[in-house]
Amino acid sequence: MMRDLSNDRALISINSMTVKPWSLEQLVEGCARAGISAISPWRDIVQACGAERAGKLIRAQGMTVTGLCRGGMFPAADEAGRRAALEDNRRAVDEAAAIGAQCLILVVGGLPKGSRDLAGARRQVRDGLAALLPHARQAGVPLAIEPLHPMFAADRACVNTLAQANDLCEQLGDGTGIAVDTYHVWWDPELAREIARAGRNILAYHVNDWLVPTTDLLLDRGMMGDGVIDLRAIRAMVEAAGYRGHCEVEILSAENWWKRDPDEVLRICIERHQTVV
Ligand code: ZN
Repeated sequence: MMRDLSNDRALISINSMTVKPWSLEQLVEGCARAGISAISPWRDIVQACGAERAGKLIRAQGMTVTGLCRGGMFPAADEAGRRAALEDNRRAVDEAAAIGAQCLILVVGGLPKGSRDLAGARRQVRDGLAALLPHARQAGVPLAIEPLHPMFAADRACVNTLAQANDLCEQLGDGTGIAVDTYHVWWDPELAREIARAGRNILAYHVNDWLVPTTDLLLDRGMMGDGVIDLRAIRAMVEAAGYRGHCEVEILSAENWWKRDPDEVLRICIERHQTVV
């Protein structure tokens, strides 16, 4: 399928993890320098800048914020832990609102320490989402549930497939949606069907690549085009489902991309976005 790629630069967004050494100020300035008009910061750099001040900087540059990364981590060993998680998530919603983020990305959390009750953890996620939702709706911040590759079920996210995320959205309704990250879902035999099922619930689309071999499960993500994911095919699926948002480049890469000059990383992101995404 041929696509008009001439305006593609407008559709790229840069997740702050891709240029990890940068502060929020550097991210905004660096992207503006590169002609990129959308970003998705993690909370650490937003908090370091101050959420209100970050919002002003972002608005002054006319930047789109495709998401705030991240809330979630709902399951806990006891009630106090779950309450603390909920409070932190409410703050994340407020930060997302302050910077005008299109959604709050949720990495939902895994097993509580010492637990083997995966089904119970998944119930805690659903209950945590339901408890957070009224605050998110009131703030006008959609919650984007991001299924993570099952290798993270124990420690990061026990929502591991788009089918699970779609089920949660159906149960919870208005104000919930899905973040599709190619690194986490590319392997799924139900990918096409579940992306179509998600439809307009797709709130964010994260791109990167799966390297062979992957030497670190968390911190060895590939640049688009360097791995085995059929990125064009997946983008066609999300666009056929109705997604009209950005392709957000999210590459956690401790040994490669984080060691390079971030301006150079952005140039390569743009080039790969135009040629392989
Ligand atoms: Zn992601």
